[in-house]
Amino acid sequence: MAACIFCKIIRGEIPSMKIFESEKTLAFLDIGPLSRGHSLVIPKFHGAKLHDIPDDQLSEVLSVAKKIAIAQGVEDYNILQNNGRIAHQVVDHVHFHMIPKPNETEGLGIGWPTK
Ligand code: 5GP
Repeated sequence: MAACIFCKIIRGEIPSMKIFESEKTLAFLDIGPLSRGHSLVIPKFHGAKLHDIPDDQLSEVLSVAKKIAIAQGVEDYNILQNNGRIAHQVVDHVHFHMIPKPNETEGLGIGWPTK
């Protein structure tokens, strides 16, 4: 979608720190992180809310979030997905927040998933 900020990130028209990319899925660091390493995992298919996205376009999203958790080496994290203004959605392109909650004994890993 032409005006969508996350579609512009997918197309490379807006810079981002991409950490995973496949045919259907993109993950990149959140510009306003709630914790160090906070990332967003999105389907490349444009839709505002979860129910707008066909199942096959969503199939990788949680496994990518899982890969990020493993690569970051965190055991504690939130996966958050907002739908609609009342639910605090600001960007109208479905996205899953991956918010690490590292404790003092866990490092936030240096690696990112590559596949
Ligand atoms: P929402 O409240 O819609 O679930 O969260 C949207 C998220 O997108 C916010 O955490 C915000 O920081 C992030 N965000 C908004 N614009 C940009 C951008 O241009 N680049 C990146 N990397 N993140 C963005």
